This record gives sequence, C-alpha cells and structure tokens, in this order.
Amino acid sequence: MSTMAEARLRFFGAVGEVTGSCHWLQTPQGDVLLDCGLFQGGRDEERRNAADFGFAADKIQALILSHAHIDHCGRLPLLVKRGFSGRIYAQPATARLLRIMLEDSARLALADAKHANRRRAREGKPPIEPLYGLEDVEAVYDLIEPVPYGERQAVLPGLSFSFADAGHILGAAITEIWVESRGQTRHLVFSGDIGSRGTPFVVDPTRIASADLVLMESTYGDRLHRARSETIAELGEILENAWQSGGNVLIPAFAVGRSQELLYWLAKHHRDWGLSRWRIYLDSPMAVKVVGVYREHHELFDAEALAEWHGPNNPFKMKNLKLVSSVEESRALNDVSRGAIIIAGSGMCNGGRIRHHLKHNLWRPQCHLLFSGYQAAGTLGRALVDGADHVNLMGERVKVAAQRHTIGGLSAHADQNGLADWYGGFANRPPVWLVHGEDPARRALADRLQQQFQAEVSLAEASSEVVV
Ligand SMILES: [Zn+2]
Ligand SMILES: [Zn+2]
Repeated sequence: MSTMAEARLRFFGAVGEVTGSCHWLQTPQGDVLLDCGLFQGGRDEERRNAADFGFAADKIQALILSHAHIDHCGRLPLLVKRGFSGRIYAQPATARLLRIMLEDSARLALADAKHANRRRAREGKPPIEPLYGLEDVEAVYDLIEPVPYGERQAVLPGLSFSFADAGHILGAAITEIWVESRGQTRHLVFSGDIGSRGTPFVVDPTRIASADLVLMESTYGDRLHRARSETIAELGEILENAWQSGGNVLIPAFAVGRSQELLYWLAKHHRDWGLSRWRIYLDSPMAVKVVGVYREHHELFDAEALAEWHGPNNPFKMKNLKLVSSVEESRALNDVSRGAIIIAGSGMCNGGRIRHHLKHNLWRPQCHLLFSGYQAAGTLGRALVDGADHVNLMGERVKVAAQRHTIGGLSAHADQNGLADWYGGFANRPPVWLVHGEDPARRALADRLQQQFQAEVSLAEASSEVVV
C-alpha cells in the first residue's frame, strides 16, 4: 500500500459517446460524483439507463452537477432511488432548470413504460417499472445545495470546488476542484459542456489560468461551426420568403436554450425583418417555464442580452409574441392558416405539440418548416430533413408539401476552434482527458491539442483509472 493516499478518477458514462455524463472522484476522504446523466439514443441506451451504475449509490458522499441538460442530470432520481442521500451541488439557475428537466423526464419515463407494457401484455410478459417517477424527482430536490459561480464550496475534508460560467446554457458550469492527493492539493478542472462564443444570453466560456489535470468535453472536436451571423441572415431570408408564400412557419425546438435563442433573434431583428406583420407563438409549456427561469436569473446574461433585456427589444416582451401554455390555446392555432410563426417542442418532432401543428400545416405548400437543431436518426425530424414525402402523424398519413429548411450554426457547444481556445487558457498546458465525444471527434481534438499546445492528451475509457 502506498503511504500517501491518492485521489483517483473513473468514468461511468460519456466515454466515446456524448450522453450519460458520469465521472467518479474517489478520494481518501470519500467519493464524489461529477454528473449523473441519462444515456440517450435507442433501445441499448434505455437498457443502460436501467442497469447498475457500476458503483454503490449509497457509498457516494456528494454529487457536483455541471448543468441541467438531461444527459448530465437525467439519472439523478434513479441514484437517489438506489440509496444516494448526499448533497447535490448545483449552480442556482441549474437547480431551477433541473426541476423542469427531471419532471419532464419522469413523465416521459412513465409514458415509455406504459407503451412498453401494452406491448408486453400482448406478448404475455410481466409489466416493467418506469425508470423513475415524480416521487423520485421530488426526493432529488431535498438534496440540492445551490452554489453560485465563483464561490468556494467545501464538500469533504480535503475536497472543495467552485463553479465558473461555461457559457453553454443558463447556469452551466465549469467545475474547479481542489483535492488532497499524494500529499498535495491537486487542482482538477472538469469542463462540463463548453459553450460556443456568440450564443445569446450566456457569456463566453470562462478560461481557467492553470490546472494540474483537465477533464474536457469533445462533442464537436472534429467540426467547425458556420458563423452565427450567416445563420441569422439566412433565418431572416427564410422568414421573408415565407411571408411571400402566405402560410405559417413551424420551428421545432428544444425547450431549454434553442427556443429562447430563437426569440432573441426575432426580437433583435424585429424591425429589419418586418416581423410586426407576423404573430409569434412559443407553444411549449416547458419552454414557457424555462422563460420564467431566464427572467429570474437575467443577472447571468451577457452584456448584449442584458441591454436587450432592459431595452425595447426584450425577447420575451415582443408585442406580437404569445407564450402558449394551455392545450386549448395550442389547438386554436390549428385554425390559423397564415401569418403565424410557431416555435414548439419537441426539437426532433418525436413528441410534443409540434406534431399537431405538423399535421395541420405539412400538407400545405405555402407553409414552411424550419429546423434549427440536430435531428437524430430514427426521429420524425430526421425523416423530414431527409426528404420524406409522406409521414405518419397521429394515426394519419400526411403528405409533405411544405417547404423545408435547415439552418446550421446555432450550436450551444464549442467547435474545435472554441475547444482549443478554451484549453489554450491554461498557461501551464496540463494533461487532459477527453470525455463527452464520439471517437472521431475526440481523436481529432486530441490531435489538435497535441499539435497546437504539445498537450498530453488521453481518451477516457470505462476501464481508465486516473491518479489525480
Ligand atoms: Zn449540455
Ligand atoms: Zn452534454
């Protein structure tokens, strides 16, 4: 046995993939988790969500959460259900968003289980339990300890941390950890998800001056984003054409981040795009709740968004914007044949209110459908992007005659340049372990960091054990 106790890092998700973020910091004083996210994708991922964590939930003393995206927080209720009873540290805006995300996730889990159980009953199989329920989500709230950016928080003897703004979504954090290991205080930095410069509302990602070890995301490590300004100009052109066509515009969008970003650009260009002739609807109860969190936490906005917030272009106070929560109001939109811009979830059209809007608009050539985010294989959104000429919606086969557009460049993740720039903030070029990226992406990022900074880069694996 070594005379000097050491801290170690192990990886239980988001290795060679983007989802399921979960890292384990084992220290002489106790064990702490960084994130506990859902695996997302298909059937295999669903099985992994229900499977063992790979560690005993009740042996973990505390959890530090980077942000409220479901691939980072989605297994928290399960962790608590399986015996975790420590503190969950989260930035205050993250703590608020977390409730919205987890409640939605619990509802989806329940719906999935119901759907599966109808099939299982026909096959003569016993029913399955949902991954977790609303009562498990409630249990998570009791454990949350909000920690603002920049405040040093003690977790265990010999272990403390502080959050810095990651510029990714509201409340998203880079976590700086100070931990006793091998007789020294070691400074570990976990990037969480790093934002893309120019994303509205959030600041640019905080660069950290030095570290002993870096754990870093690599989602778009092999990509360069198109300039946001080009994308926004394209959005303006599409809306102008759509007005000439005389129909509606449907925009499927995620409830957190993208929906609010779209409103930001519509408000900013309200005059030059002639938007007062349109009626704009945010038709998503979840996105409307998220707008409430933005209002409560507007102190986190970057300077530009703060100026808009206090000026005449407040994105959530446009005169022709309607925040739609009730089902009746949403249904009433089915009677609107022209002049409506409808932003609704889900972002990939596999659920949510966008489906009934699609049913009432897709078959009409004067309507426009605008995708602003990634569409995963197997989703209705992907089928539409790929040019399907008919789709099934709510039991009906609907012809696709609407004009389809895809605008890239609105990513909330840094591209390769952004990631390299963030790493470049560490003047001492610390060793870095890459997580949260598929292999081609993290290999490309590893090459870039090695070439540009002579950095020592490793790819985290499920079997890796890193001495801090
Ligand atoms: Zn994220
Ligand atoms: Zn993520």
